[in-house]
Amino acid sequence: MNYDAIVIGSGAGGGPVSYLLAQAGKKVAIIEAGGFYTANDFTRFELVALRTLWAKPRWTQNYELGLEGEIALGMGRCVGGSTTIFTAVAHRAPEFNFSEWYEATGLKNDSGERFSPADLAPHYKQVERDTGVRKYTEWDEGMKQINMGFEKIGHPFLPVNAFITPRCDQSGCLFGCPTEAKRGTLVSYIVPAIYLGAELFYNSTVTKILISKGKSSDDPAMATGVEFLQEGKEKRRISSKVVIIAAGALNTPHLLMNSGVGDIVGDTPSVSQIGRNFGVNTAAVVFGRFGKPLNNWLMHPLSGHIEEFSQKEKGGFLLEASEVMEGPLSFSQVMVDSDGIPLWGRKQKEIMENYRFYAGIFVNIHDKNDGRIFRDPETGLEKIYKPVTADDKSRFRAAKALCQEGLEAAGAQKTLDSVYLSHHVQGSCRMGQDPERSVVDANCKMHDVEGLYVMDGSVIPSVIDANPSLTIMALSDRLGKYLLSSVLK
Ligand SMILES: Cc1cc2nc3c(=O)[nH]c(=O)nc-3n(C[C@H](O)[C@H](O)[C@H](O)COP(=O)(O)OP(=O)(O)OC[C@H]3O[C@@H](n4cnc5c(N)ncnc54)[C@H](O)[C@@H]3O)c2cc1C
Repeated sequence: MNYDAIVIGSGAGGGPVSYLLAQAGKKVAIIEAGGFYTANDFTRFELVALRTLWAKPRWTQNYELGLEGEIALGMGRCVGGSTTIFTAVAHRAPEFNFSEWYEATGLKNDSGERFSPADLAPHYKQVERDTGVRKYTEWDEGMKQINMGFEKIGHPFLPVNAFITPRCDQSGCLFGCPTEAKRGTLVSYIVPAIYLGAELFYNSTVTKILISKGKSSDDPAMATGVEFLQEGKEKRRISSKVVIIAAGALNTPHLLMNSGVGDIVGDTPSVSQIGRNFGVNTAAVVFGRFGKPLNNWLMHPLSGHIEEFSQKEKGGFLLEASEVMEGPLSFSQVMVDSDGIPLWGRKQKEIMENYRFYAGIFVNIHDKNDGRIFRDPETGLEKIYKPVTADDKSRFRAAKALCQEGLEAAGAQKTLDSVYLSHHVQGSCRMGQDPERSVVDANCKMHDVEGLYVMDGSVIPSVIDANPSLTIMALSDRLGKYLLSSVLK
């Protein structure tokens, strides 16, 4: 056996568990598809960052199913995963989400009771300590300007909690943090894990989980290791006692399907759940054009939020500000006209000439886990399906009307919409008690395969009405402690 644990992916799900196992003296291999870049590599060069730190943009393919509305899905592909490029908002899942989790998959705690906020509280606390979560009160001009309008209409923004230390000089998030003030998993867990002896294979993509099964139908299937392509050329196989997939909610289902899980264990109820129940907190931005330059692209985005409408009965949307996509390339690609058609030509040029005058509000809605990630049976190509439903559109209408009112009260001369997008992919391999509705159990072990764990956004049973990474990290801390007290004792 080469390792005690192999962790595939080094983002929010891969970070804490890798660190805890390494700290306990376990032999850990972290395999990461993206490159290994640190603070000195992070500049404001948007195109370089999009190519080195971001995964190639993916879109839903709803049109193939005759549905309107596509969603652009963004994630990281580098050591630290999406937390290297995230905006670092660090909020716990609201209490009502835990009841929804129980309804979705029957999720229970060790004592057989409904999984509750108390079950995750010690792990939230641990991660908040490890990453220095604090209230982010250093609001930039755009945030102050927007809030002035929202105060007038009776819905003030509040400072967000953030994975950001006071060292932040507001030099940006989405292209990597040049000061290490942003404490994603790269800084908080992966580099410390390497110091503790974990081995990091970067630019290395796992192509297959190795799963063995005896001849008798009663013999359990068992994960024994992985096959991966190192630096894109050398194929390697390594073995371990446990394999933890932390490749993110878009990639984990494919990795399981490509590894032939269905062929090995059969078409069980739980295997048929792989890739289903995909949710994204569909988002859009409403930008306001102000009368003076705000230079919002230079700042740390998303320092204020309005939570009062998060619950679905109260509107089902979360507002965060202030946003201009932090770079002109990204900004120029997301703007749409009032019919939702991407802007181009003279109109786009005029807006870009005034980029410095814009500040916007991110609208994340509570949507359903009604998406699916699958392989086209004919072509074998990846497909992502996530409808934008009538319910979703009505939440957007309400949220955008409020944004428009607040932005106008703040002095915006005009407003501008964006395409649908999401950075909060979740739920494609859910955790739960019931194998008919989930892929992994309450300890994140696959129902049908011994030694194989999933620990990333895909295990979240139903979409969280807050930014998800703190919850994913807390679940990862929980998994690390569980493994150390049981299978890796
Ligand atoms: C631009 C942006 C802003 C965001 N802002 C916030 C925020 O402010 N607050 C918040 O809470 N959340 C935010 N998020 C979301 C948050 O970052 C994610 O929810 C979280 O990081 C997901 O964790 P994960 O472990 O599921 O996946 P990731 O963190 O994406 O990690 C998955 C890793 O697995 C690697 N990988 C994939 N396939 C393979 C393979 N086959 N072999 C090896 N490695 C593989 C990927 O390269 C990647 O590094 C943001 C995300 C983005 C993209």
